[in-house]
Amino acid sequence: MVILKTSRELSKMREAGRISANALKLAGKAVEPGVSTLEIDRIVRKYIEEQGAKPSFLGYGGFPGSACISINDEVVHGIPSKKRILKSGDIVSVDVGAFYGGFHGDNAWTYACGDISDEAQKLIDATRESLFEGIKQAVAGNRLGDIGSAIQGYVEARSYSVVRDYVGHGVGAKLHEDPSVPNFGTPGRGVRLLPGMTIAIEPMINMGTHKVRVLDDDWTAVTADGKLSAHFEHTVAVTADGPVILTMPD
Ligand code: MG
Repeated sequence: MVILKTSRELSKMREAGRISANALKLAGKAVEPGVSTLEIDRIVRKYIEEQGAKPSFLGYGGFPGSACISINDEVVHGIPSKKRILKSGDIVSVDVGAFYGGFHGDNAWTYACGDISDEAQKLIDATRESLFEGIKQAVAGNRLGDIGSAIQGYVEARSYSVVRDYVGHGVGAKLHEDPSVPNFGTPGRGVRLLPGMTIAIEPMINMGTHKVRVLDDDWTAVTADGKLSAHFEHTVAVTADGPVILTMPD
């Protein structure tokens, strides 16, 4: 069941989104060669807790971190570890959520660590732009397929592929609500978008095959062919005045 939010609830979600976005920005600033993914996780957790919020992911389904940190061929759900040390040339996807005032914000960004290859930078740029192509379609009266097809069309025109096994989602009092928000689809198909819907749009885009597999840690999803993957996410409200990004930093 899709839960529509009132404007009062949306302003609360904007607060949770702001904390999530600030935490993500801090994580991005910490991405540099020699830093462990656990150090980044600690920074995220400390900031969120200082705001009187809770890290949405900590303990979710047993997840041990406050951020998912996924490097290079890791698509999503990388577990922070003191043994994972970033090096120049890595691309680092950080996914962060915060729970505040009864609502979650959820967002992700892929950062360059040191000097990265041109091909890695192009993948990052295309994935980020595809997110904004998707957000443009988050308009009342459109359907979910309009969002998915905008993302898919943008990246496939650049010979990248869209992960199928993981998708975006409704977000609100629960981290994952209805509906599922695929990053692929057919224009004019799927659930109709209504004012008050709040969705996490989160393209996960691969350089090679769209296929992924999960590592033995039962969390980390990696590309089946070992090629790079990027991930960007915003929590977005569908309103009568068009799409509003709720995960905006200060
Ligand atoms: Mg999400």
